[in-house]
Amino acid sequence: MKRNVLIIGAGGVAQVVAHKCAQNNAVLGDIHIASRTLAKCHAIIDSVHAKGSMQTKGVLQAHALDALDVEATKFLIRATHSQIVINVGSPFVNMSVLQACIETGAAYMDTAIHEDPLKVCEAPPWYANYEWKRREACKAAGVTAILGIGFDPGVVNAYARYAIDHHFDQVDSIDIIDINAGSHGRYFATNFDPETNFREFTSTVWSWENNAWKANQMFEHRKDWDMPVTGVGTTYLTGHDELHSMSQHLGVPNIRFWMGFGEHYINVFNVLKNLGLLSEQPVRTARGQEIVPLEVVKAVLPDPASLAPDYTGKTCIGDLVKGTKDGQPAEVLIYNVCDHEASYQEVGSQAISYTAGVPPVAAALLIAEGVWDVGGMVNVEELDPAPLIAQMNRMGLVTRIRHAAGDDVLEPICPVAAPLGDDRQGELKYG
Ligand code: NDP
Repeated sequence: MKRNVLIIGAGGVAQVVAHKCAQNNAVLGDIHIASRTLAKCHAIIDSVHAKGSMQTKGVLQAHALDALDVEATKFLIRATHSQIVINVGSPFVNMSVLQACIETGAAYMDTAIHEDPLKVCEAPPWYANYEWKRREACKAAGVTAILGIGFDPGVVNAYARYAIDHHFDQVDSIDIIDINAGSHGRYFATNFDPETNFREFTSTVWSWENNAWKANQMFEHRKDWDMPVTGVGTTYLTGHDELHSMSQHLGVPNIRFWMGFGEHYINVFNVLKNLGLLSEQPVRTARGQEIVPLEVVKAVLPDPASLAPDYTGKTCIGDLVKGTKDGQPAEVLIYNVCDHEASYQEVGSQAISYTAGVPPVAAALLIAEGVWDVGGMVNVEELDPAPLIAQMNRMGLVTRIRHAAGDDVLEPICPVAAPLGDDRQGELKYG
């Protein structure tokens, strides 16, 4: 059994990861949180204690770390005897943290694709630019590396695989739909790191159409979807990490990602973009200072973690899968609904962080128990999705399925399946 977890990063997602690791520390062992700003690690630890999240008495420690420093990261992994690293720092640190894991033998996880600060939207498939170049190194070292195990990417990859395995003979299309019907009450804010958020939308929108990459522009294609609980929501075709692995692994000809946006977000985004304020390329000011406009915008926007106390409403994220079963057209929607206020009450974060933070801890438990400790680099759709879905159901991130026969909790049959017993079940109202 692998034990002791090192969490890298101390933002909104790390807060959820820390609480969920604490709630399961009888299995996961010592918990260490390391980030650039030590005070943020301490604030998370205070929150874990304030909410009484520790399952059992144990180690919960903060560390200052520049995760771009491979040697320092290796030292910390060894000093803390961490066998599992959950990287929820900014996407710029992914490759240095992965390298430290390869050299120390610790299992690695992240929730977003690696990014070079000076490049946006590289050639598809994006995973081939950085991550998959380290596949052989992971295999040689026997290191389990699970890429993109947040919600999207992450759980939506597992949903796609589950639908293919259990509901279809042939799948023609997967539409991943991400709706946040919540409200944070601020003039403008992003739900996770503004820099990462804007970088997703400033360049080519790559989709997988008829077994080939298709380039579109942001906000070019609009579609309304009637989703469970959140109702009809407006989305736009968006480029996203998971398309770049699912297209290569699942054999499905059409895979698209649709993100919900309100008119206000689009207006502000367009103004910022057209003024050049979302550029990742440095500019020089009249006083001779070199600055990156996108970093300035990030600095003046609300810290996403600060939105949580006032956030109301729900998210609904899922996969609409279409194909054929027994010669007949078939369709399922596999999805999760998450409540901002319930997330805040439980772990002090909003639902976007909650949906991203629970899956890596569920995966850590599966690695600890040997179920997902595969000794190589994988994207989520390459793993059996059933244990993940069962584990998340137990942890409060419940999967549902809308199919011809109705709309039910999806309870997969698998070796680690656990009964639904989380308090949050009662707080979610469906239909
Ligand atoms: P935040 O910006 O709130 O947190 C990022 C953290 O990383 C901060 O604590 C930051 O430190 C730290 N960090 C940045 N650079 C370094 C470094 N060099 N060394 C050590 N720590 C560093 O982001 P979120 O918590 O919202 O998101 C975390 C990750 O999760 C991101 O990669 C994001 O893209 C991903 N994500 C994935 C989702 C999914 O569903 N798959 C959904 C939402 C997010 P400091 O505080 O000093 O800046």
